[in-house]
Amino acid sequence: MTLDAPALPPDDRPPVIEFRDVGLTYPGTPPVEALKPCRLTVTAGSFLTVVGPSGSGKSTFLNILGLLDAPSTGTYLLDGIDTGALKDTELTALRGRRLGFVFQAFHLLPHRSALENVALAMLYNGVPRKERDGRALAALERVGLGDRAHAVPTTLSGGERQRVAVARALVARPSVLLCDEPTGNLDTANARSVMALLRELHEDGMTIVVITHDPEVAAQGGRTLAIRDGVLEETPPAVPLRTGARS
Ligand code: ADP
Ligand code: MG
Repeated sequence: MTLDAPALPPDDRPPVIEFRDVGLTYPGTPPVEALKPCRLTVTAGSFLTVVGPSGSGKSTFLNILGLLDAPSTGTYLLDGIDTGALKDTELTALRGRRLGFVFQAFHLLPHRSALENVALAMLYNGVPRKERDGRALAALERVGLGDRAHAVPTTLSGGERQRVAVARALVARPSVLLCDEPTGNLDTANARSVMALLRELHEDGMTIVVITHDPEVAAQGGRTLAIRDGVLEETPPAVPLRTGARS
């Protein structure tokens, strides 16, 4: 941060994600209204969690956010860009440059080192070959795995594998990190360590969206939305701890 660019209070920051009455109905008999039209603004630097039971529409929401599915109604602006106006190749490029993905199942290449797994994410992003290893190593150091750069995934714990996946998602310097059940395959200790990493990244200014069915994970976000039967709703913020004054 520089002196002439002070951090803005959250509400003054530009929206990274804006849904204007975005909804998705899967065709069929009967059609499934998986996401009812909703409005949503996510400002830069937010840590948003979205919680809901199985079948509530979480993946549908994330697939729209991740430019993997187009909404059937409404307008989705990513970094101010109207995604509905783009061709498939432009959507792919936008996805590669602005979005980082972390999935429940890690999706690491088993016979490649952590470093290679991270470096491969830059293959199609226009990063010159000679810069890739250095950036991959820096990303692994950022997630606390600088000393495991040459390890293959089978020799890493679940939490370490997910950290490699986070490094891979970050290395192209996306605008948003989208995480679909990032702790779904982890035991409690590893889940907490991955969530602690996401909180650190948020403190460094990263915009993060985490989808989860786990209320403990959802509670880590700065803002939590609930989704049920395709309806996305704001949840009340956690009651702040008060010292002194009583009400
Ligand atoms: P979640 O991720 O919360 O489990 P989903 O977004 O996967 O929920 O699904 C929401 C609803 O949409 C469910 O009723 C599901 O059966 C339905 N659905 C999901 N994908 C499709 C599809 N491709 N075609 C038709 N219905 C779908
Ligand atoms: Mg799902």
